[in-house]
Amino acid sequence: MKLITIDTLDNAVKAHLIKSKLESEGIPTFLHDEGMVTLYPVMSPALGGIKLKVPQHKAEEAMAILRKFDHQPVKDDKGDIVKCSHCGSEHLIAETSSWRDSKGIFSMLLALFFLVLPIYLKTVYRCLDCNKLTDKD
Ligand SMILES: [Zn+2]
Repeated sequence: MKLITIDTLDNAVKAHLIKSKLESEGIPTFLHDEGMVTLYPVMSPALGGIKLKVPQHKAEEAMAILRKFDHQPVKDDKGDIVKCSHCGSEHLIAETSSWRDSKGIFSMLLALFFLVLPIYLKTVYRCLDCNKLTDKD
């Protein structure tokens, strides 16, 4: 069985998410260099990241599932699809940010003063088409 690499990732959590998705669709999936990249993240570029490998005869099917998986629209807490407030695109990824507003800056200052982790994190969405940030509210 010849394995071919269909994607490379620098994050073990995302690699396992995709592996689970592909295996649930009946495609045997293997992660190469996962241990090294997880133990030594700075070595990831030198190693070429975590390699997601599938059998050659399943590669086309796996790529189609990956494309579908990558283009799932982001949904908010109510289940509504979140759209970019700048261009209206649905190609968004979720990020967390603590510096977006005065509450975030206040919590960051408290965290610095009391030497604790900041407790206020806000979810924002980055548009993959125009690269601008959109707030949920
Ligand atoms: Zn946009």
